[in-house]
Amino acid sequence: MTTATTAPAAPASPASPASLDARAVSAWFGTHKVLERVTLNMPAGQVTALIGPSGCGKSTFLRILNRMHELIPAAQLAGEVLFEGEDIYAPGRRLTDARRHIGMVFQKPNPFPAMSIYDNVVAGLRLTGVRANRQTKDDLVQECLSRAGLWKEVRDRLRQPGGALSGGQQQRLCIARALAVRPRVLLMDEPCSALDPTSTRRVEETIQELASEVTVVIVTHNMQQAARVSQQCAFFLAEQGTPGGIVEHGPTTDIFGAPKDDRTADYVAGRF
Ligand code: ADP
Ligand code: MG
Repeated sequence: MTTATTAPAAPASPASPASLDARAVSAWFGTHKVLERVTLNMPAGQVTALIGPSGCGKSTFLRILNRMHELIPAAQLAGEVLFEGEDIYAPGRRLTDARRHIGMVFQKPNPFPAMSIYDNVVAGLRLTGVRANRQTKDDLVQECLSRAGLWKEVRDRLRQPGGALSGGQQQRLCIARALAVRPRVLLMDEPCSALDPTSTRRVEETIQELASEVTVVIVTHNMQQAARVSQQCAFFLAEQGTPGGIVEHGPTTDIFGAPKDDRTADYVAGRF
C-alpha cells in the first residue's frame, strides 16, 4: 500500500459513466493487419455489445480501448480512442489514467486465488496508487461486492481466499475488483463464456444494473445475451484474408430485428 502524500485518495462514490469514441482504429501484430479503420461511438451509460466470429479482432479492439494491447510487443496501432473527447493515445497521456478509468474483465475469472475476497476487491487501489484508510476500504468492499451482486453470498466470509469461490462468484469478484478503482468504463471480454447458465444470468443482471454508473463494452458470442444486455451492437467480421472491421452497428433492436447487411442477418440468425 502506497502512503505517499501525493497519492490520490479513494473517491467516496461511484464515478459517472464516460463516453468512448474509436476513430479509424487500425491494428497490426507485426506485419499482420488485424483491424481496418474501425470507428465506433460507445455512448456514456450504455451497454455496447461487440459480436462476430472468432478471429475478427474483437478482443484486440477491446484491449486497444484501454491500452492493454501495449503489453503485446509486436502490436501497433493507428487511429484515435477518445475518452470523453480526449485521445488516450495523445502524447503525454499517461497509461495509468487510461487503465484507471477504463477497467477490464476477462473471459476466464482471474481473482488472486490465495488472496482473501476482501483483499481481492481492494487490490486495484494499490495497483493504481490510490490510498484509502480501513473504514474507506470496508465501505468500498461492501459497496463494490453489492454492485457486483455478490455481497449477500460472501459477507460472512470475506477473509476466505478468492480461489475458494465458484466460477460465477469469482467472475463477480473480478467485477467488484474492477469497480473498486471507480472506472467510468468497463470492458468485458466474453465474461460469461466460462460460466454455467445460472452464473451467467447473475452476471447479466449485474451488467444491466451497472449501466447507469459505468459505460459497458462487452464482447459476447451469445446472441441472446447481446440482445438482453446491450442497447447498441457492433458486428465485426474479417472476410477471407482481410483485416477485421465493423460491417454494421446500431441499436441492438435494429441489428437483431432489421439488419441492413445480409452478413449481419446471417450471423445473428446463426447461419455462420
Ligand atoms: P477475436 O477476439 O474476435 O476472436 P482477436 O482480437 O483475438 O479476435 O484476434 C484477431 C487477430 O489477431 C487474429 O488473427 C489473431 O490470430 C491475431 N492475434 C490476436 N492476438 C495476437 C497476438 N498476441 N499476437 C499475434 N497475433 C494475435
Ligand atoms: Mg476474443
